[in-house]
Amino acid sequence: MSDNQHLMTTYAPMDVTFDHGEGAVLWDTEGKQYLDALAGIAVCGLGHAHPAVTAAITEQATKLVHTSNLYQIQNQQRLADELCRLSGLDRVFFANSGAEANEAAIKIARMYGNNKGVSSPGIIVMENSFHGRTMATLSATGNRHVQAGFEPLVQGFIRAPFNNIDAIENIAANSSNVVAVMVEPIQGEAGINVPATDYLNRLRKICDDNNWLLMLDEIQTGMGRTGQWFAFQHNDLLPDIVTLAKALGNGVPIGACIANSKAAEVMKPGSHGSTFGGNPLACAAGLAVIKTIAQEKLVERAATIGTRLSDKLHAALDNVDGVKEIRGLGLMIGIQLDKPCKPLVSEALRQGLLISVQSDYVIRLLPPLTISEQQIETLTGTLSTLVRSFLQQEAA
Ligand SMILES: *Cc1c(COP(=O)(O)O)cnc(C)c1O
Repeated sequence: MSDNQHLMTTYAPMDVTFDHGEGAVLWDTEGKQYLDALAGIAVCGLGHAHPAVTAAITEQATKLVHTSNLYQIQNQQRLADELCRLSGLDRVFFANSGAEANEAAIKIARMYGNNKGVSSPGIIVMENSFHGRTMATLSATGNRHVQAGFEPLVQGFIRAPFNNIDAIENIAANSSNVVAVMVEPIQGEAGINVPATDYLNRLRKICDDNNWLLMLDEIQTGMGRTGQWFAFQHNDLLPDIVTLAKALGNGVPIGACIANSKAAEVMKPGSHGSTFGGNPLACAAGLAVIKTIAQEKLVERAATIGTRLSDKLHAALDNVDGVKEIRGLGLMIGIQLDKPCKPLVSEALRQGLLISVQSDYVIRLLPPLTISEQQIETLTGTLSTLVRSFLQQEAA
């Protein structure tokens, strides 16, 4: 196939084209069926072609798609109300992607610092983090592959090891220009790295003691994925800023930077903007997603069915030589092997299963929150067979 000859080679897509989907199932253009355990990288939390989202965007498209933020947008105000109610925070800026939501957070942190009179305000970010591909967010990202060749990087990020409170305390003791910490509650792209249960609480305390903003990148963990609306809700705390994108529109591009009053008030008319951000269509999708997650009790479902999936994976793989760890929260699960396992992705595809491999060693599962018991069964069966035979081949 040479259909990609006019596309920039930023991706090397696999040799499959999907035609349509329903829930956790996709069909390719040849009519072959697949079980989607990746959900468009944690985007299609409600599964593919959810009728409530289809209806919402269809209905909105017949009325109005876009007007710009020069005018009031009712859907945007409603969606902001919902996000503030769910998060416990106060104000929302809408963007079109995760990176843009993080850009807004970074700009708020800098404005907050500059307003305080901090010269050259710095933001603590983590090793192995992922925050996006724009210049500021790739500079914040803790992965050299994402940065290489794009130097000079954006300055003002201070790197610390993830899940290491001592390192943050050390920075607090030795730096006077820190104004914020930006962190994923669970590192997704790095391979589902789950920190200690008190990690976020201890970060909150350090931020309070030093008057820093705690900024949580919940772009992958948010919208019910981990068994709470937001992963921080497994802890007893409120961040100053939360960023969302991926699952918020179930595939319609939308990002959100949600902040408490203290952080939000630094933004004035003209401070920041977006032509498309929060347009009536994207916000109609977001509203339908939130309503459906609530109606179908999908947050609770992510917790229970996530536990079931994790139990089944443990039962099938724990005693397999070469399986090092199965970890995660809710429907965000990583299976770490003792050897690089990228080839598993195309082998799984051949077997009709969509997964990803992160950081070479970790199989990542992010199925739709609507995945059925039967599909969980199929997923575990297919995947454990694949993993066993892969490890056997590798050992031979
Ligand atoms: C996907 C992701 C991003 C970037 O989102 P885009 O929509 O691709 O810009 C940022 N942070 C995290 C944690 C992500 O998973």
